Amino acid sequence: MTNFSKNILWAVMTLILISMVFSVFTETTAKPERLSLSQVAERINAGQVAEIGINGDDLTVKLADGKTALSKKETEAGITESLKNLNVNPDALQKIKITVESPSGFQYWAAILIPTLLPILIIGAIFWFMFRQARTGVNQAFSFGRSNIRLSGFGKEKVTFNDVSGLKEAKEELLEIVQFLKDPKKFLDLGARIPRGVLLMGPPGTGKTLMARAVAGESNVPFFNISASEFVEMFVGVGASRTRDAFATAKKAAPAILFVDEIDAVGRQRGAGLGGGNDEREQTLNQILVELDGFDRDTRVIVLAATNRPDILDPALLRPGRFDRRVVLDLPDINDREEILKIHSKGKALAKDVDLRKLAVRTPGFSGADLANLMNEGAILTGRANKKVIGQDELYSAVEKVILGPERRNRAISENEKKITAYHEGGHALVAASLKGADPVHKISIISRGMAGGYTMKLPLEEEHLRTKTQFLNDIAVMMGGYASERMTFGDVSTGASDDIRQASELARKLVTKYGMSEKLGPLTFGKTEEMIFLGREISTEKNYSEKMAEKIDDEVRAFAERAHATAQKILQTNKKALKKIAETLMEKETLEGDEFYNLLKPFKIKPVVV
Ligand code: ADP
Ligand code: MG
Ligand code: ZN
Repeated sequence: MTNFSKNILWAVMTLILISMVFSVFTETTAKPERLSLSQVAERINAGQVAEIGINGDDLTVKLADGKTALSKKETEAGITESLKNLNVNPDALQKIKITVESPSGFQYWAAILIPTLLPILIIGAIFWFMFRQARTGVNQAFSFGRSNIRLSGFGKEKVTFNDVSGLKEAKEELLEIVQFLKDPKKFLDLGARIPRGVLLMGPPGTGKTLMARAVAGESNVPFFNISASEFVEMFVGVGASRTRDAFATAKKAAPAILFVDEIDAVGRQRGAGLGGGNDEREQTLNQILVELDGFDRDTRVIVLAATNRPDILDPALLRPGRFDRRVVLDLPDINDREEILKIHSKGKALAKDVDLRKLAVRTPGFSGADLANLMNEGAILTGRANKKVIGQDELYSAVEKVILGPERRNRAISENEKKITAYHEGGHALVAASLKGADPVHKISIISRGMAGGYTMKLPLEEEHLRTKTQFLNDIAVMMGGYASERMTFGDVSTGASDDIRQASELARKLVTKYGMSEKLGPLTFGKTEEMIFLGREISTEKNYSEKMAEKIDDEVRAFAERAHATAQKILQTNKKALKKIAETLMEKETLEGDEFYNLLKPFKIKPVVV
């Protein structure tokens, strides 16, 4: 509707313009004086006329004083005849030069055609205009089928392997791809089939996207980037046509890399989804498969795809000739973390005494993205404190902020609550310090952060990939430390312990049902956990054991929890004085660093306890 009224407006404006142009022209031509034929006759008799030009019925009268005037004669009659009829003196007439000009071809035709053609032309223009408008509308509708594929990775944006720290194995694997893109002939001559699809898998934030960019940067080819979720939109069939378009664009630019981010958005096992939009997803997936199969032997396009859920991908995607190469990107270990921190401290004003290694020690389980975020938080905290350089303390606070959320110093907390929290955290820390083989305490704090009232940070000495039963039992006992301490000191328990209890129970249950660590039930797992593919979460556990067994499992879980509680209780009972000292120091200082804490314990000569 708006388009239509716009067109009308245009048409009216065009008409006004045209009429203005015409009026200008007619004005300029109308300048000479207009004379009636009888006036002309009078002037001839007066001897004022020098020359008369005839053009059709128009007369151009050149006067003796050099001026020009216009007139018209009768259509049918000749000029001399008409003038004679008007009593012009024949002698005077003879003196006048009369020339007959035939009308020029252009003028003649213009006179005939313009009046008939102009309206047609104007109407035609209006129609053309409307059609053009309509066509862009249609085009917009059709462009849904075009992928909004992005080309990037050139100039400043260029990323190389140097920007990706750690991930050595992944880099080695991908180096092959780089070599192939640079010098395909070497491989083709050997009869090697060109890799087509490489699947980058790893937890979120481990640098999958970064790595894909780096591969493009290293091989110096265009990097086309699309997120699989963009394939699927409102309209059915859009996904498939976008896929076609994305592949066609990449092929045109070959050698090139086509990066499909978060491919699990379309690559989920077919027929396994919940809810609508499922068909569309399948069609898109099918189209991706078709495109991958349709590559010629020497098409120099490599499709990289990233996912953090390789387990839910459709097996058809992983078949040879499709995404048959899989590169795993792990969470960084301590050395890699130090490297990543180094990369992200570039361009930041770090204090000279900042020890990134110590920071790496405190950040097990952090992904590359978490570490990047951590350095950024450190800079923000420093800025907020109006300091010029980022110090170690700011970075430590940033770690805690990333893990637990922002500090909430201003939260009103009564003296009593503070005391409970101090004894609670003191209990955790003391149990951790007393247990043989438990992870050492790095920091204790009773300042609330995020949802936690306080926290005790304990970290393993070394990076570990396996955890033993003893360590788990230690963990459960440490978790019970807070609860046990509250109960012993105040004869009462607060809600502050609820999260500990929940974690302890879950861990104890896992020991029994998942890890086979119960002596009584032996090396068996119980329950088959179904992951709901749509939600990507465990939502149901199939019970594959009898009621009788269920009872036994419950008993075992309970036995683990009670044993841990007993251990914690015993430790706290025997070291009541130490607990009091820790709690009082905490109430005064609010936070204790690891070495302060262990210094505090020294005079008490705590005997190590085995769970
Ligand atoms: P993913 O795609 O795996 O979720 P990204 O590649 O988007 O993760 O990583 C997010 C950010 O984290 C990157 O832009 C980078 O700043 C940082 N990062 C992650 N891994 C690394 C790494 N190995 N080296 C350097 N920076 C990293
Ligand atoms: Mg990503
Ligand atoms: Zn606790």
